[in-house]
Amino acid sequence: MIYGVFSDVHSNLEALKVVLDFFEEAGVGGYICCGDLVGYGPDPEECVELIRALPKLSLVGGNHDLAVVGRLDLDWFNQYARASVLWTRPKLSAASRLYLEGLSARLETKHLTIAHGTPRNPPEEYLLSQAQFLDNIPSVKSWPLFVGHSHMPLIFRADDPAGGRPEGPFIEDVEEVLGRGPDGSFLPVALNPGSVGQPRDQDRRASCGVFDSKAGTFRVFRLPYDVRAVQAKIRAAGLPEYLALRLDYGQ
Ligand code: ZN
Repeated sequence: MIYGVFSDVHSNLEALKVVLDFFEEAGVGGYICCGDLVGYGPDPEECVELIRALPKLSLVGGNHDLAVVGRLDLDWFNQYARASVLWTRPKLSAASRLYLEGLSARLETKHLTIAHGTPRNPPEEYLLSQAQFLDNIPSVKSWPLFVGHSHMPLIFRADDPAGGRPEGPFIEDVEEVLGRGPDGSFLPVALNPGSVGQPRDQDRRASCGVFDSKAGTFRVFRLPYDVRAVQAKIRAAGLPEYLALRLDYGQ
């Protein structure tokens, strides 16, 4: 099965549409979403509706999703994040709110695990170092592990017989071959597809990934979208100016 993997949409409808169109052209049969559907951006309801309608979708809620439905304390958030959570709450329909309320911060199936931040502390911890990845390995039974939260496309692996890099940022359009054990199951690896709606790796283009579970490959793609249109909507909505500016610089 070919999966479209995406995360941290953050109510950015223009970026989400470009990513979903790309997935359709790529022939994906299922979707993996690592959370933060809403927060920061100007189109929370439209984004939740589009994501809810995706077939064969496995997803978790992120810290922003949980905060919007009152399941996470706003003390965790900086002033921009807090302002956007409060702005988002009344914009959601009852159905979308219920949908976000039903999301867990971590999901494990026979074939994969999804956590917004890390498996041991899904809504809050950022997976940013190899040492942290190694510490999290005992918390996972099914690999690969898909994560988001940092808004940066990253890979971490314990050991790769294929000789791949153990950790680091993904290079666009490079296909990573995931290591397998003798029984064919994947060796420990964490894959972050980067952020659809608010990339923070100095590249303003939307980020997403394609996982081929049969071939055992993962590849990150960067896609340009209409940043100006989103910035105009952020300003018209009265959201903090910084949330519009950061989209320009990819941070
Ligand atoms: Zn996020």
